[in-house]
Amino acid sequence: MRVLVVEDEEPIASAVARGLRQLGYEADTAADGVEALEMAGAHDYDVVCLDLNLPLIDGIEVCRRLRAERFPGRIIMLTARSGIHERVEGLDQGADDYLVKPFALSELAARIRAVTRRAGGADATLRARGLELDPDTNRVRREGVDVHLTPREFEILHYLARHEGRAVPQEELIERLWGERASPFTQTVKVHMNNLRRKLNDGFGQPLIATVRGKGYVL
Ligand code: CA
Repeated sequence: MRVLVVEDEEPIASAVARGLRQLGYEADTAADGVEALEMAGAHDYDVVCLDLNLPLIDGIEVCRRLRAERFPGRIIMLTARSGIHERVEGLDQGADDYLVKPFALSELAARIRAVTRRAGGADATLRARGLELDPDTNRVRREGVDVHLTPREFEILHYLARHEGRAVPQEELIERLWGERASPFTQTVKVHMNNLRRKLNDGFGQPLIATVRGKGYVL
């Protein structure tokens, strides 16, 4: 497992990287947004731990560009306690989770395990409504055509597909995919859902995900 720690405060960056190495991870550091993008493009990182307040290119923009370039790994944002707005924005831009600074190394390690566990799993390809979902690669095809989703969008779709035909309440999605600590951010579910619908329907006539008023989302 290879992790990139993006943090401009050198003592924090090196302490986190050293701690992760002691836990058995490969860990590199980047000190600004430009270096972060270069390194993420040059190596296969499973996880990027991304400070939001960075020189040259800020963390939100780094996150946005990584997802625009289809970076396949997980992104955990490291945010100041006051930065709720930035956290929401980061999740909207494709981050998988966030951690409030200062944090204990054990907390970061737990988040890394959680986001990579959600990504992996030996589940078989799931088929529903003309969709094929491969949880090992996060690959989605609709009627044989590739649909490119962020990891979070994939999780939402995979969850709906596992419960095909049942209206899944927003609260259930949050609880199952985010965990209760993210519960203030219901708006982010709507954003992910809008993006997911747009991508799934692009070039296809029939919408796949319906909203059942007062009940939730249904595939
Ligand atoms: Ca910083």
